[in-house]
Amino acid sequence: MAPLLNNTPLPGSLSLHDIPSDNTVFKYETDVKQLVQALSPLVRKSPKQIEKLLSQSPRINDTHTAANAPVLLVHGFFGEGQDYYWWNGMKHHHNVIVSDIGPISSQHDRVCELFYQMVGGTVDYGEEHSQKCGHARYGRTFKTPAYAEWSSENPIHIIGYSFGGNTARALQQYLHEQRFPGYDTAADWIFSLTAIAAPLNGASIVHDVAGLSIGESSSFRALAPGKLLERAFRLYDWMDISVLRNNLYNPYFAHFGKTGRTEADSWSEWFSMLGASIWNTPMENSYDHGLYDMTPGKCSRMNDKMVDAFDCTYYFSFTKTLTEESSWSGIHMPTTATLLSPVGAFLGMHNYDVKSLQTMYPNLDVSTEEKVAAINNGLRRNDCVVPTVLQSHPGLCFTHADQSVETSNYLNGLVGTHEDGTAKCACAHKATLQEHGDNLQTGKWYVTDYNNMDHGALVMTVSDLNVQKIFFKSLYSKLRALPMPSEENYHSL
Ligand SMILES: [Zn+2]
Ligand SMILES: [Zn+2]
Repeated sequence: MAPLLNNTPLPGSLSLHDIPSDNTVFKYETDVKQLVQALSPLVRKSPKQIEKLLSQSPRINDTHTAANAPVLLVHGFFGEGQDYYWWNGMKHHHNVIVSDIGPISSQHDRVCELFYQMVGGTVDYGEEHSQKCGHARYGRTFKTPAYAEWSSENPIHIIGYSFGGNTARALQQYLHEQRFPGYDTAADWIFSLTAIAAPLNGASIVHDVAGLSIGESSSFRALAPGKLLERAFRLYDWMDISVLRNNLYNPYFAHFGKTGRTEADSWSEWFSMLGASIWNTPMENSYDHGLYDMTPGKCSRMNDKMVDAFDCTYYFSFTKTLTEESSWSGIHMPTTATLLSPVGAFLGMHNYDVKSLQTMYPNLDVSTEEKVAAINNGLRRNDCVVPTVLQSHPGLCFTHADQSVETSNYLNGLVGTHEDGTAKCACAHKATLQEHGDNLQTGKWYVTDYNNMDHGALVMTVSDLNVQKIFFKSLYSKLRALPMPSEENYHSL
C-alpha cells in the first residue's frame, strides 16, 4: 500500500497539516489506530469521531471509485448553501461539496456558476447569452476550486433538491456539449445523478400561484406574487446589508449590474437609483430567471433538446406526495396539515383547459374530453408544491403505486413516444431505495416514490431530522457501493 502523499487529502475536515511533520509514513489499514490517537488532540475530535470519519472514507490509495467520489449538493429555488439547508446531507459522506449559486437565477446562470465553483475561476455566462439577456458576461470569481481534479477519471455524485435537480441535469448536458470554453468536458464527469422532488418536467405552481401567464413568452400577471417576490429580492439586494448578505442570504444578482445603495446628492437621485435597481429588472425583461425556467412549457422544450439519461451515469429520483384522492370527488387533498397544505389542496383540485395543457405539455394527447379529464386527474397528486407526475424523470410519468396499473398505463400512453417510437417512460418505480436491489444499470432512472412527505421534507432543519438522517445515510451508502460503469451494467436502450 502506498504511503500518503503530501497533497493527499484526509477524510472530513482533517488535513495533513494536522499530522506531526516527522516524515512518519502512515499505512491506512495497519496504522489506523496510531493515526487516530495521534490526530485526536490535534484536531480536537475524539478518537470515536475520527474513526467514524475514517470509516466513511475510501481507502486512501485506491483508484477512483464510487466510494471516494465527492458528492455535490445542489440547492433548489430560494435555497442556498448554509448548514441549515442540507443539515444531514452534509454529514455521512467524507467529501461533500455544497453549491453556492443564485437562489432565483435562471437554469443557465446557475449551471455556469456551479461549474466554475467546481473548477475555480471567473464565472463565464457566455457572450451570446449575456448579450441576449442584458447582463455582464463574467460573474463572480471562485479563487479556490471545490474539486480541481474533476474529470472523466475523477467523476462526482451530484444530488439536486427541487430546482437543483433540474440544474444538475442541465450541468451534465452542458458538460456533454462542452459548453465551457477551454475545458474538455464530457457527460461522464457525473458518476451518478440524484433528483429529490425535482420539477424535472416543470412546476405548474409558477403559473397557478406565482402568477406567470401560461404561454410561450410567459409574463407575470398584474400584482403576481412571483413578481412581487422578485421585487423583494431586488430590494433586499439593493439594501446591501453585508451582515445579512454574508451570513444569511446572497441573491447573487451582481451580473445584472450595480445593485447596492450608492451615494447620491439628493433624495430624488437616491429614489431614482432605487427605482432603477428594483423596477427596471433585466432579469424579468429577458425571462432570464428561475421561475420562467420552471414553467412546464419551457421545461418540455428544454427536455426535448437534452439526453434523458446518459449511458455513463446512474440516475435516481425520489418523488414526494402528500395528497390522496378522495373516492367521492376525485380531487386530491393533503393527508397531513403542514405549512404547505393549502397549496397542496389548491393544486389537488385544479383543472386545466385544453389550450393550457397543450402549452404546458405539448407532447400529451389531449384529443378527447375523456383524455383531458383523465390527465387533469393524473396531475392532481402533489407534494404541496410540485405534482408527483412532474417529478419522476424527464418526460411525464404517471406511474404511481397508489394508482391502478391500468390507469397508470392509460395515462402513460397519452405521453407519446420518442422519435424512434420507444416509450418515454422506461423507469423502475419502487417504494424504497433498497427495493431497487444492487444490480443497477447506468442510463436508466430508478424512481422511489415517498408518500406522506411534503416538498420541504428531507432538506432544511424544519424537516424530521431523524428521517432526513436515515435518508442521506442510506442514499450515500447506496452511491458508494455503485460499481464502475461497465459494458455489463450499461442500460441497453
Ligand atoms: Zn443569464
Ligand atoms: Zn416512468
